[in-house]
Amino acid sequence: MTAARRALILEELGLLPLWVPRARPRDGSEQPDAGNESGSAQDAAALAPRQSERPAPPDAAIRPPVLAEAADQDDRAQRLARMSWPDLKEVVRSCTACPLHASRKQTVFGVGDEQADWLFVGEGPGAEEDARGEPFVGQAGKLLDNMLAAIGIRRGDDVYIANVVKCRPPGNRVPDVRETVQCEPFLLRQIALIQPRLIVALGKTAASSLLGTEASIGSLRGRLHDFHGTPLLVTYHPAYLLRNLPDKAKAWEDLCLARDSMRRFKSRQSAPSK
Ligand code: URA
Repeated sequence: MTAARRALILEELGLLPLWVPRARPRDGSEQPDAGNESGSAQDAAALAPRQSERPAPPDAAIRPPVLAEAADQDDRAQRLARMSWPDLKEVVRSCTACPLHASRKQTVFGVGDEQADWLFVGEGPGAEEDARGEPFVGQAGKLLDNMLAAIGIRRGDDVYIANVVKCRPPGNRVPDVRETVQCEPFLLRQIALIQPRLIVALGKTAASSLLGTEASIGSLRGRLHDFHGTPLLVTYHPAYLLRNLPDKAKAWEDLCLARDSMRRFKSRQSAPSK
């Protein structure tokens, strides 16, 4: 996780500002705080042993809890980033890293061709997905299947479908930042294992998680983005389209762009090299 992303997350969680040790001048002398008129900080600094005289505290003792938590997260993410499909599936199946595990019937890992060219990413399981253990099997799923069919692709055939979070948020609410952050390494590993030619982010949660932006779907759709070297398109979530029929025309445009982009990527690869 990058420092900027961590800072964003911590800010979201209301954990900023972090405690940061004040830089000391190179000669070890202390300067009073500007505006600190009591002199007590100065006195305390004068009484305190100089940095070089203090025994070095063990690392964990000087790490504020939020940083320790972030470091643990990084360790976990690194372990997950090396996992095989079977190990990853097992870790997801038994995950209790966020409160969503308590109310799920089962985890919803993802479905499809594990070497697919296409990867569609949704938000998280709904009630039917929670009951059946497969993404996009409810009403929104039927629309997604129709969207896929419209561009000549079929679930399970060169397509993988996954969600940002693998457990159903109660009441189908949007997953919160803590839930998303805990689940993110699973999706990242799925992407790394699949190595799709094109990722389609369905809706705001998927787009925000993958692109690290809070920008609207309206401003992100209609062009190719880059996800660590893999082209990524953003379009409306099928559940949103069920409630907002006029935007179906825009989703259709996005799908046509996806289809044309995929054709281009495939023809580029099959073109004889000079
Ligand atoms: N909505 C999603 O984002 N994912 C599903 O699996 C089902 C509905």
